[in-house]
Amino acid sequence: MTSVPFPVPHATVPFWRTELHVLDSHQSTPELPEKQDVVIIGAGFAGAALAYYLSEQDTSVPKRSITILEAREACSGATGRNGGHLRPDIFNGVAAHMKTHGLDAANNVATFELENAEALTNLIKSEEIDCDLRPVVSGAAFVDEAEAADAKKLWDDMLEKGSPALQQVTYYGPEDAERVSGIKGALALYTFPAAVLWPYKMVMHLLAAAVAAGVNLQTHTPVHAVSPEADSEGYWTLETARGAIKARHIVFATNAYTSGLLPEYANTILPCLGTCARMVATASAGPPPLPSCGIASKSPNTIHSYWGARPDGSFIVGGASSYRDKREFWYRNFDDSALIGPSIKFFAQWAGKSLVGWEEAEMKIENIWTGVMGYTSDDLPHVGAVPGKKGLYICAGFVGHGMPNVLLSAKAVAKLLRDDTPLTESGVPACYETSSERLRGARQTA
Ligand SMILES: Cc1cc2nc3c(=O)[nH]c(=O)nc-3n(C[C@H](O)[C@H](O)[C@H](O)COP(=O)(O)OP(=O)(O)OC[C@H]3O[C@@H](n4cnc5c(N)ncnc54)[C@H](O)[C@@H]3O)c2cc1C
Repeated sequence: MTSVPFPVPHATVPFWRTELHVLDSHQSTPELPEKQDVVIIGAGFAGAALAYYLSEQDTSVPKRSITILEAREACSGATGRNGGHLRPDIFNGVAAHMKTHGLDAANNVATFELENAEALTNLIKSEEIDCDLRPVVSGAAFVDEAEAADAKKLWDDMLEKGSPALQQVTYYGPEDAERVSGIKGALALYTFPAAVLWPYKMVMHLLAAAVAAGVNLQTHTPVHAVSPEADSEGYWTLETARGAIKARHIVFATNAYTSGLLPEYANTILPCLGTCARMVATASAGPPPLPSCGIASKSPNTIHSYWGARPDGSFIVGGASSYRDKREFWYRNFDDSALIGPSIKFFAQWAGKSLVGWEEAEMKIENIWTGVMGYTSDDLPHVGAVPGKKGLYICAGFVGHGMPNVLLSAKAVAKLLRDDTPLTESGVPACYETSSERLRGARQTA
């Protein structure tokens, strides 16, 4: 495999892709159009939301011509293989961003994530999207004494400094954490509102709406290269496996694979492999734990992981971080056609080791898959106009946390492209805006 990231064939099959939509391998026209106003590369959550908002908000006459180019099937990237959590990270996330980017930035990110979760929930309700949306109480649990103490210190610090999002977080100490979470040996627990859903079904609804509004969807069309500059009429050329196509505007909704087409992002957005499994209890299940939670644990007696409970009683479990110190398994790895070896043992042991009363439970790994996340050098997404390349936009680098970030980022990029509305006017945190400074910073730390 080369080190330049492109989607690979024969990807593992996630649970979410076991009920395929009629547009899964859709090609709106037998040939690619010659010239378009907008080409979106990528048909994951970001590409689908961009197409949805660009077509929905288009009042131009004639309407903008829009094509989506997707290398594999629709929603076959990270979105179709994630943990199904819509979980604004208003405790751990705020703490981490506060340390690296300051309190204001951390608060802006938390507010934006809450707004995204609300906007997506409202959209799902208003459009009656059948995607198993289920509001849950989610948790962040700590089992290691030192980590629990650090988390408590951070919590106190954040309370003192002031973070509006914390009003939605409840803290449980050592007396209550295990009972409330259902996690063995939990010493600290922070709970907050979240939701679980079937991401593929939600995204396919957005894509179907865009296609119905005239967007040309071309799956199985990998883009190999984009011209280094626009021609004299302002058109960029995209070379694809099915011929060339010209576009006045290109939006890179390519997440982990962005640097395959935009080499300036090579040290900025890094493909990192993750894994999830759908686990079903076949016998002697214990009492239900919190329906959604993450466990931070360095201890071999508990398992560092996160999960969301499905309406059918199964769990989507992710994390599997027992292999994290072996970077060759995941770092700059974009091969989602293979499983991560050590994760299979981890999933098999997950419930017995982690959940109170589940020691005798027989758990079956019903589905197991891998997926590629777009980690970024500063842990923040890249949204906005690609520096120095007029007409090119990016909405990518959503780390392991796109569900409460993508929708309003994509909506803001659609507005920026349409009428130059600055991203921050659309509510996107200033620290998400892509810039030459952030690209330079990533080169320096690489
Ligand atoms: C295992 C795993 C678990 C996760 N769990 C969660 C979770 O529970 N909650 C959460 O919030 N987030 C989670 N995430 C992260 C989340 O899934 C992503 O942040 C989000 O889906 C990103 O959406 P996207 O549209 O930017 O990327 P993607 O869904 O990856 O879409 C990018 C698309 O671009 C296409 N593409 C790329 N390059 C090209 C090219 N050259 N030509 C044509 N097409 C191209 C790809 O094929 C892909 O379909 C998880 C991710 C993984 C992998």
